[in-house]
Amino acid sequence: MTNDGLLVVISGAAGTGKGTVVERLAADEGIRVSISATTRSPRGNEQDGREYHFLTKERFRELIENDGFLEFAEYVGNFYGSPRRQAEEWMKQGRDVILEIEVQGCMQVKEKKPDCVSIFILPPSMEELERRLRKRGTETEEQIHARLARAREELPLAQDYDYRVVNDDLDECVDRIREIIRAEKEKRFN
Ligand code: 5GP
Repeated sequence: MTNDGLLVVISGAAGTGKGTVVERLAADEGIRVSISATTRSPRGNEQDGREYHFLTKERFRELIENDGFLEFAEYVGNFYGSPRRQAEEWMKQGRDVILEIEVQGCMQVKEKKPDCVSIFILPPSMEELERRLRKRGTETEEQIHARLARAREELPLAQDYDYRVVNDDLDECVDRIREIIRAEKEKRFN
C-alpha cells in the first residue's frame, strides 16, 4: 500500500473548456496541476511560470535529453512537455497531480505510469466546439482550422481513456471528475 498521490491525465480538444475545468480542480485541497513547458509563444495575458514555462526549442531539447519530461509531444507545430521532477515530488507528498495534456502525451504517461487515471473531456458537439473556439478570439483563422482538424482526429481516441466526461455544464463536469478521483483513490488505497 502506498500513500502516493494519484496521477490524473486530462485531455480534450481546444475549446472543450478543459482549461476552466482544470482551474476549478486546482483550487481543491490536495490537488496540484502540473505546469507544462512549451515552445509556443504566450497567448493573451499568459505569464511564464503560471500557465506554462515558455522555452526555446534548444532548451526544450536539452530537457528531453536529460530525461526531464514525464512525456512530451508536438501539437500543431509546437512542443509541449510535462516536467518530471515537480510532478513526482508532489505525488510523493501525497498530492494528486493533474496533467492537462493532449493524446500522444497521455499514451506515453500510461506506459510509464500505468497507475494513472485518464479522463477525456468531450464538447457537447463539434459545432459547439467551433463556436467556443471562435468566441475565445485568441487564435487566427488558420490556427482555428488546425485545432479543429486536430480535434476531429483526437475524438476517436477518447475511447482509449478510462473515463469520458461531457462538458455541457461546467459545475457538473467538475463534480464528475472529483467523483472519479475520489473513487479511484479508494480503489487503490483502501
Ligand atoms: P494550448 O496551446 O492550447 O495551450 O495547448 C495545446 C494542446 O497541448 C492542448 O491539447 C493541451 O492539453 C496540450 N498540452 C499542454 N501541455 C502539454 C504537455 O505538457 N504535454 C502534452 N503532451 N500536451 C500538452
